Amino acid sequence: MNLLALPAFNDNYIWMLHDGVRAAVVDPGDAGPVHEALDALRLQLSAILVTHHHADHVGGVDALRGRLQGSVFGPARERIPTPFTPLSDGARIEALGLRFEVIDVPGHTAGHIAYLTHDDGPDPLLFCGDTLFSGGCGRLFEGTPAQMHQSLSRLSALPAKTRVCCTHEYTLSNLKFALAVEPANEALAAYTSECQALRAAGQITLPSTIGRELQINPFLRCDQPAVVATAMAHGAPNPAPVAVFGALREWKNHFR
Ligand code: ZN
Ligand code: FE
Repeated sequence: MNLLALPAFNDNYIWMLHDGVRAAVVDPGDAGPVHEALDALRLQLSAILVTHHHADHVGGVDALRGRLQGSVFGPARERIPTPFTPLSDGARIEALGLRFEVIDVPGHTAGHIAYLTHDDGPDPLLFCGDTLFSGGCGRLFEGTPAQMHQSLSRLSALPAKTRVCCTHEYTLSNLKFALAVEPANEALAAYTSECQALRAAGQITLPSTIGRELQINPFLRCDQPAVVATAMAHGAPNPAPVAVFGALREWKNHFR
């Protein structure tokens, strides 16, 4: 299966999977880039997967229905453009002949879901919306630190080779914060140089992998001594992972 990241708005990606004939898209906040890709590659749109209700993820859904031969899938507990097939934890769907499993990942929004497939080659493929970003995580608009920490823990327990398709190109600004949390993390320094070179060349930094994120993403490293120490210096009331996570998330909200 071919995997494309269609740029949208300032820093969104609309992920498209296609087999040369049929395509599925994830979180089409804008129909324009999807229409263009479908036309250029002469593909038929056969599924739309939505992770959460924010406009930059659902804004193009209705404008794509006219050429959709298949379903819109979305989170059961959120209001997204109807009609759609409502999904929650453990649900299984099929798109492009691939079986996807749904994982509830509340935190950024209350009903946010992620989609995981093991059917596209040896490495699993994860569409996680605004939950996990490379080097960071989504803001807590509707959920608690405990919920988001639990959601990220579920994602970080996936196989290390899992490809992580996030919806935003936030990597460099996330890594700036990550370096403030863990200045001595060598993998983080090396990855930062890599991503700076990619961006300087106009390239995308995604997808990441779960293995990579475990090495460099402070929000997945709340049990590491260096991360705990920094978080304690920035208001974490105790060294428990959820408290560390909450303090990091709060600090990042106004980090420049
Ligand atoms: Zn969002
Ligand atoms: Fe978003």
